[in-house]
Amino acid sequence: MNRKSIIILIVGLLFFSCIILRTEAQEPKLVPRQLLIQDARQLAQILDLTHADPHIRGGGNIAFHGRLQEIIRRMGVAKAGVREQNLYGSTREEDMVTVDYEMAERALEWLEYINTGADEQSIRQFFLERVASTKGCQAIIHHWARFRKWDEEEFFRFIMEALGRIPVELAEKGDRRAAASLERRMKFWEYALANPARIKRALEDMKKTDLKKAAVALARRYLPDDAVVRNDIYFVLFGASTAFSVGKENGFDLLQLPKTNDGRLDVDQIVLTLAHELHHSGFSECVEKNTPRIQEDERIMLLGILAAEGMPTYFINKPFEYLVEMKSSGIEFNNSLAQEWENNLSRLAELFREAEKDIRLNFEGVIGQKDIFEKWMGGLQGPAYALGSAMFSTIEKNLGLDSARLVPRNILEFLVIYNKAADKENRKGSRCFIFDRKLVDQIARYRPQRVEKSRATNPIFTLIFFVLEGRITSDYDY
Ligand SMILES: [Zn+2]
Repeated sequence: MNRKSIIILIVGLLFFSCIILRTEAQEPKLVPRQLLIQDARQLAQILDLTHADPHIRGGGNIAFHGRLQEIIRRMGVAKAGVREQNLYGSTREEDMVTVDYEMAERALEWLEYINTGADEQSIRQFFLERVASTKGCQAIIHHWARFRKWDEEEFFRFIMEALGRIPVELAEKGDRRAAASLERRMKFWEYALANPARIKRALEDMKKTDLKKAAVALARRYLPDDAVVRNDIYFVLFGASTAFSVGKENGFDLLQLPKTNDGRLDVDQIVLTLAHELHHSGFSECVEKNTPRIQEDERIMLLGILAAEGMPTYFINKPFEYLVEMKSSGIEFNNSLAQEWENNLSRLAELFREAEKDIRLNFEGVIGQKDIFEKWMGGLQGPAYALGSAMFSTIEKNLGLDSARLVPRNILEFLVIYNKAADKENRKGSRCFIFDRKLVDQIARYRPQRVEKSRATNPIFTLIFFVLEGRITSDYDY
């Protein structure tokens, strides 16, 4: 298929869409815009998959997808005047994000009930009936059930052990990690039992701020316009992971949220954390939609991590701007994090070389998830965060935000875009690292093979999330 036939196909599709839109204007039953957009994407996908090189005469992959997005944008404009309320409008993203405080509220009521001196049987019954049934509590259970036997009864026991109301199971004795984890959860739950009113106030403060709106707006600023953010966010009392993610369920432990120097909840920081997570969701959805199967393909895992973590870290958390502030914050966690960042940034040249080597080994199938996680995701925030951020910094400075926003559309082009930005920077006299052009080209041309459903690995981004979530928040001193 040559360029001409591609254009004819696309124009044909546009024309066809217009007919549908006109028909819709006369009849109340509408063809949803999303279906039209899906059609356009499917067409592009078919071209992508079946044609040897559909982009060759059209200015390359990025230009091709740029034009596709323009068509999709026009479909949106055409639709906006018809039935705005029912269509994707400016608030669509918020409609797909829910923030739920119920588990935390019920758990606080339960702690107050314990403080009234209720008997053990009633305490248990209150928990199972009122707390365990909440969606937030179920999300905790889904999260833990991936690693161990876990249900409502187990969670109840987990808390009662932390509160010292039942003996700790023998299996955990003598295990140092289990002892440290027990110590942590005891600290959180004992504090919660002693201060439910204080936590309640913190919760009220959070509810007064429109966290959802602020976080969604921030996340979307750094995503392609058509990216959809879908997340259910639960604020819970947990005492284990500071945050976790199972599919679109995201939990944040109220007992471990970041706080300011004077001990109040750091709402700005919470917005950044939420926005970072929402960005993952939009990024992941965008990757899935535009380049299906990539997320299941372990061969581009390191590249995927650099893109998926570098982007929200650089644009949302802004480590380069806040490093000094983090260091002087007086909060131990921030100090350690800043130190780790400084260490990684001081060896950026080495990280670039290592990344080139590992991206190649990963692409050749020599190294996989285990090696990559150990080397690039270890520590509070691994070297992947620093390197990915540095890459997006070069892209933004030289090509602008819009070029950075192309990355989720095709992460196989991440290195192409980066190299282009670095070339531009180097023409000004800098000495930015340039990834081996042959490797960059090979990856950009790569089309993942279909993975058998039974053999499919966990989607990369899901893996990133649950490794990451446990360490993104704060000091533990509530
Ligand atoms: Zn992240």
